[in-house]
Amino acid sequence: MLETCTIIGFYKRWNHSKTRNHRGKKYLHAYFYDQNGVFGIKRVSKAQALLLKHRIKKIKWYYCEHCGSKFMSDKYKADPQCPKCGK
Ligand SMILES: [Zn+2]
Repeated sequence: MLETCTIIGFYKRWNHSKTRNHRGKKYLHAYFYDQNGVFGIKRVSKAQALLLKHRIKKIKWYYCEHCGSKFMSDKYKADPQCPKCGK
């Protein structure tokens, strides 16, 4: 499922709930937007994270002046195009 998503970052979270000595287990979570632009967080394994790291994108949200729709695009792209009307 994550293969088709836009990965935007990771964060580490410690799970202290089941331990007594404050040495909880470390979990990696990935932030992503799916194909519909819906934001999500998913727990990933270390191996998965290594692969996904290469696919992190610096994205930015844009508003299309022509059709008013919201879309995300590469942050460093000079002239982002609206996927709906192509302008
Ligand atoms: Zn548009």
